[in-house]
Amino acid sequence: VDGLGILTGALIMFFFVRMGLRKPDPYVSLEQAIKRKEFVPYYQPILDIQSGRLAGCEVLVRWRKPDGTILSPGHFIDVAEASGLALPMTALLMEQVAEDLSESYAKHPNLKVAINLFNKHFEDLAIVREVEQVFGNSGVRFEQLVLEVTERLPLENLDRARAIIARLQELGIRVALDDAGTGHGGFAYLQKLGMDIIKIDKLFVDTITAETETVPIIDSLSQMAKGMDMVVVAEGVETDEQLDYLRRSGIDEAQGFLFSPALPASAYLQLVGALGGK
Ligand code: C2E
Ligand code: CA
Ligand code: CA
Ligand code: CA
Repeated sequence: VDGLGILTGALIMFFFVRMGLRKPDPYVSLEQAIKRKEFVPYYQPILDIQSGRLAGCEVLVRWRKPDGTILSPGHFIDVAEASGLALPMTALLMEQVAEDLSESYAKHPNLKVAINLFNKHFEDLAIVREVEQVFGNSGVRFEQLVLEVTERLPLENLDRARAIIARLQELGIRVALDDAGTGHGGFAYLQKLGMDIIKIDKLFVDTITAETETVPIIDSLSQMAKGMDMVVVAEGVETDEQLDYLRRSGIDEAQGFLFSPALPASAYLQLVGALGGK
């Protein structure tokens, strides 16, 4: 064994000992933040771009720290997922969503609310019981709920995911393929998993300019979705040119800064009060 080998060995030992001695800081503070309910739902409006009416919203988590700072998921969502906090964080969010929207959504049965799930949720039927428990006796009906599964990361077990999705759909809940076009799933996912909604990623919407004649990926996703009787939503719409193109391509719904960023509950509820449902 040479000097370098000993040094490397010592370094590796050092890191193992450190890891064993204490949990990493981000984990501890995220866990505390869940206990203190510092993760709150923000709501980004989704518009029916053919009729111009409000279709509902997508829930986007924000970390509201005690000092008033608001953090976006980019700062913590990966750590939360890696440290096993995905499920408790989502449970906390769902409870707050039920609380925020119950009164208003009972009056507007056509409005929907989409919640982002983690891939981990599609490994265990527990999510079905949890959704039933949280929304079963709330003013938000299962028919108003959309659960999003991202295509960005692969699902562990497609058969199990399929079974969980089927159970959710039996309740009347719809399931959306998020970030469509970016990842692992593609056409196979859509066919195998039986999705109700497809969300075209901002990446593709971004490519639309005033000069754009066709965006093959948007057109093919949208055509295929229509063939399978799915609703198509475009995300990250920022310009009138993009909206025009999407409308002409027969896309049903859109969300983006052109209409509104994610809003705190009070602001979203004001919007619902003013616009009502479609
Ligand atoms: P996503 O699900 O694709 O959500 C859309 C993201 O794009 C949101 O970022 C939203 O604020 C942003 N966005 C919407 N319209 C526009 C636009 O016109 N321009 C630009 N530049 N951005 C726009 P956000 O809130 O930072 O969330 C990032 C990602 O974090 C989400 O991407 C989603 O993957 C994840 N995420 C957010 N909330 C949750 C949650 O509650 N649970 C889970 N599992 N993931 C979440
Ligand atoms: Ca999403
Ligand atoms: Ca998305
Ligand atoms: Ca996206």
